[in-house]
Amino acid sequence: MEQPVSPVLSGMKALVVGVANDSSIAYGCAKAFHQAGASIALTYLNEKAKRHVAPVAEELGAEIFAPLDVSEPDQLEAVFDAVRQRWGSLDILVHSIAFAPKEDLQGGLLNCSAEGFAKAMDISCHSFVRMAKLAAPLMTRGGSMFAMSYYGATRVVPNYNVMGPVKAALEASCRYLAHELGPQGIRVHAISPGPLKTRAASGLKDFDLLLVEAAERAPLGALADIMDVGFTCAYLATPFARHVTGGTIYVDGGANIVA
Ligand code: NAD
Repeated sequence: MEQPVSPVLSGMKALVVGVANDSSIAYGCAKAFHQAGASIALTYLNEKAKRHVAPVAEELGAEIFAPLDVSEPDQLEAVFDAVRQRWGSLDILVHSIAFAPKEDLQGGLLNCSAEGFAKAMDISCHSFVRMAKLAAPLMTRGGSMFAMSYYGATRVVPNYNVMGPVKAALEASCRYLAHELGPQGIRVHAISPGPLKTRAASGLKDFDLLLVEAAERAPLGALADIMDVGFTCAYLATPFARHVTGGTIYVDGGANIVA
């Protein structure tokens, strides 16, 4: 049964990028924001993905529902134009997307091609910088931005390969964006969930072993789920967290503290 949630984000507008289906971390974020009273904008990757995301948009009463492939020219600008026209402002931005070509992801870092590395970096990291640039002028009352990272950014996780350096760059980008946007009252967070069974995760070799190992290591005895990630972001978007910015917040049952 769902617990009642205080409407602590009432009146806030949240753009959430990265829902593929109702297992996505982005879905947990959008649902938590919605339960806390925020209005929601969602995107879908392409026409094929749309039918899996549309039921989520309907469930959460999404006020904006637009296509977004960050590697397609002009689509990002079109999403922010839609936000500007419909809402005129924005309070919360979530970047919950990642991609690396399969052959570059699965072959170890030494075998990752320059093209594969650049593509992974562009979609999984630099697209957040582009989003932040478009979102900041709309965050006229301040705001918060979130990007999804992983423990493999700072420690070697077998099979994470090229995504390790990419997530390290994403976490560093969050710090630099937090520094540049802090004077406007905009806070930027890297969120580091423990392993979660999603579509993106299915591309990682031996991912099921990682799930078991992380759950055993977690001091809290279990992994976080997508709603735990969502509610952490919801809390960080409230004024209760108004002096928190730039860091990497782990939502993993504490697994990251254990050697
Ligand atoms: P997911 O498959 O549900 O979501 C990944 C999303 O990336 C999809 O919605 C997909 O459409 C989107 N995407 C890929 N290429 C894109 C592009 N060119 N333009 C726009 N969107 C694109 O999987 P998820 O696990 O919810 O992944 C979300 C984020 O969380 C990723 O950054 C991932 O690295 C991170 N993360 C996942 C885990 C995990 O164990 N699942 C752990 C830590 C961090």
